[in-house]
Amino acid sequence: MGNRPQLGRPPARARGLRFIVPVLVLAVLAAAVVSAQWQKAPPDFGGSYGFPTPTHPEPRATWLRAVDVAALAAALGLAVWLVLVRRSRRGVTLLSAFALAYFGFYRQGCICPIGSIQNVTLSLVDPQYAVSLGVLAFFFLPLGAAFFFGRIFCGGVCPLGAIQDLVLLRPVRIPRKLDRVLGWLPYLYLAAAVFFAAFGFQVRTAAGQLATVRRFVICEWDPFVGFFRLAGPFSMFAIGAGFLLLGTLVGRPYCRWLCPYGALLAIPSRVAWRNVSITPDEELDCGLCADACPFGAIRDLRADRAACLACARCYDSCPRQRELARGRSRQRLSVAS
Ligand code: SF4
Ligand code: SF4
Repeated sequence: MGNRPQLGRPPARARGLRFIVPVLVLAVLAAAVVSAQWQKAPPDFGGSYGFPTPTHPEPRATWLRAVDVAALAAALGLAVWLVLVRRSRRGVTLLSAFALAYFGFYRQGCICPIGSIQNVTLSLVDPQYAVSLGVLAFFFLPLGAAFFFGRIFCGGVCPLGAIQDLVLLRPVRIPRKLDRVLGWLPYLYLAAAVFFAAFGFQVRTAAGQLATVRRFVICEWDPFVGFFRLAGPFSMFAIGAGFLLLGTLVGRPYCRWLCPYGALLAIPSRVAWRNVSITPDEELDCGLCADACPFGAIRDLRADRAACLACARCYDSCPRQRELARGRSRQRLSVAS
């Protein structure tokens, strides 16, 4: 029993990195937010100068949208291979870094499957509203992947998950009952987001008439988009910073207890054709994997299909997986010599 924690423990250098990376990320984000707040006001050119209103449509060309969709499809395919075939946590980490850089900071969190829930909803209730093929692809591709392979999008492709992973310092275990109760919040948020996108609420106009105002609340309250764009209201940064600070001790709090797309993904994941299986072949039932999962997603020593975020962390803690990996590398060495 005394040896048990040692088996799943990373080496000292990795433990040091685990501490330094989240602290660095938080410091850089804080500095970026402060500088974004300072630069928010446009320059004052004096006199009666007014900034011109742009008259051209959004410059993102159709072929660049196609690049986004292709990048999403390729990243999903790669995530499936890395998580289910290669069983490589390192590979998933690299893929997450790419997703954060491309879909997060470069594309500034838009298009995103989470926000696309609202576009798709609105297109269903309002015949005047046309949703683009790109948005449809972002909405359906991760869901389609979840039908076959579980929440593969969450594991290595979602920039919101990746930014929370970056700050995870020392995950604490959340009591199961509390986790279960909080786990209902994403469904409530999903229902509210669908309602506000579809029906909105009524306001009285200056002319005294009633008008319907629809709201995309998921985008309005996205806690991380302000960091991706280095712009946004202070309240948005404050909420994002709150999630990131909480995320130093609790694995991905937004994913587990708020994300409405995560709630959607959990549904097909329950019936997925193939999901994360912690041990490559025979189950040892030693429990080391449950200690390694920062999201409390291992129940009765198996990955819970709905809660597992396909991050591949638990593989590294499995003695059977290590044994097989050692056997494979020995085999490679003997073939080479
Ligand atoms: S739960 Fe939501 S935010 Fe988290 S990784 Fe999945 S889609 Fe992204
Ligand atoms: S069970 Fe936990 S550690 Fe394993 S892949 Fe799923 S979320 Fe990651």
